[in-house]
Formats: sequence, C-alpha cells, structure tokens
Amino acid sequence: MKKIIVAIDGFSSCGKSTMAKDLAKSVGYAYVDTGAMYRSVTLYCLRNNWIQNGIVAEDKLKDAIPSIRIEFKYNSEKQMNETYLNGENVEKEIRSLTVSNSVSIVSSIGFVRRAMVAQQQAYSVERGVVMDGRDIGTVVFPDAELKIFLTASPEIRAQRRYDELTAKGETVSFDEILENVKQRDYLDQNREESPLRKAEDAIELDNSYMTIAEQKEWLLHHFEERTK
Ligand code: C5P
Repeated sequence: MKKIIVAIDGFSSCGKSTMAKDLAKSVGYAYVDTGAMYRSVTLYCLRNNWIQNGIVAEDKLKDAIPSIRIEFKYNSEKQMNETYLNGENVEKEIRSLTVSNSVSIVSSIGFVRRAMVAQQQAYSVERGVVMDGRDIGTVVFPDAELKIFLTASPEIRAQRRYDELTAKGETVSFDEILENVKQRDYLDQNREESPLRKAEDAIELDNSYMTIAEQKEWLLHHFEERTK
C-alpha cells in the first residue's frame, strides 16, 4: 500500500491530536504533534523570563533557537509519545494554561516558524506520517495526500480542554479556558506568518457532536480512500 502524508489542521482543542494519534496507531504511521514544538519553545522563553506583558524578547530567542532541541520519545508504559526539550521530559508542563496563554505569541514569530517547519519537513522524508497543527496542509506539506480541517464550537472545545486539565489534577476555571481558546483562535487566524486557514483541498469536519469512535471511523475511511 502506498504511504502518504496526513495533515490535520484546525482550531485549538478540536481533538486533532486524538484523531491523529488514533490513525497513526491503526495504520502504523509516525505521529508528530507540531503544537508540542511551539509549546516547548514557549516554555523555554517563560523559563528564561523572555515574555513580559505579551512581548517576547525576540533578539534573545533568535540567538537561542539553534540550540533548542525538541524530540519525541515513545513511553511504552503510557503508550504515547512524550515531548523532550533539550533532553528533559516536558510533556506535562507544556500543556499547562500558563504555556497555553503565551504560545500563540511565540508561534507568530517568523524565525520560530521557519525553524519548526524545517524540523517538521525533515520528519517525513519517507512519508508515512500523520501530523497535526495549524499550517500542515498549507505550509509544511502543501502536497499532503490527505488534508483534514477540524472545527468545533469554542464552548465545546473549552469544555474538552477543561476536562483534560482537571483530569490531570490542574485547578482551572472554565471561563479562563474559554477565553484562552477564543484568544488563540483570533491570534492564530490573524497572524502575518502562515495564519490558520483551511487549505483549498482539505476536507472539513465539524466534530462538535461526534464521539471519538465516530471521528476515528470517519478518518480511517478517508485514509483508505486515499491509499487505495
Ligand atoms: O495544537 P496546540 O493547541 O497544542 O498548539 C498550540 C499553539 O501552537 C497553537 O495555538 C498555535 O498558536 C501554535 N501552533 C502553530 N502551528 C502549528 C501548531 C501549533 O502556530 N503547526
């Protein structure tokens, strides 16, 4: 069967990574979570106090970016990939609301995007990869054989993120999360460098009222169509 690239883009907390991970597992493809990469760069900035009042110390970050190493390692106990920043497991920390609140500012910086896109393109020299993000079908792999664009209402997405964070033991407020979701939608869609938009040849799916199992089946069907 021919190997393809599957690009899954869409708004924050739409369940892109759940869908992407499920598909990668079912068909034996690699999975790359590009949001985790921007989150890791953001964590690096926060730890260095390089974000003040929504402004990033870009000169410092520009010097540091070649030495920021982001890797994914498989945790066989948890059966998932985990994100490492310069050798340290940061999987939990990068999902915090503190990181979420700053990530869209960092991800709008041109040199950050160029560095991350170059790494993402290098992951799939041989195809056979499922990648999720905001610009995978438009910028990273405009030639991807299967492109999906996911949407869901902001309230439903905020509820999903709320459930995810509280399940991990974080104390968060629903309103704060909803505000973050809306703010990231705005910033991601309105930035100058590769804004979030649906690729012309992407298939759109509003999964507001779909179960995870239904979404999985829907995606597998499209994957099979493209790999026939
Ligand atoms: O997917 P996730 O919510 O983890 O992504 C975090 C943030 O990273 C997004 O809100 C967006 O600002 C940025 N991002 C991006 N391009 C990607 C993936 C994520 O700009 N390909």
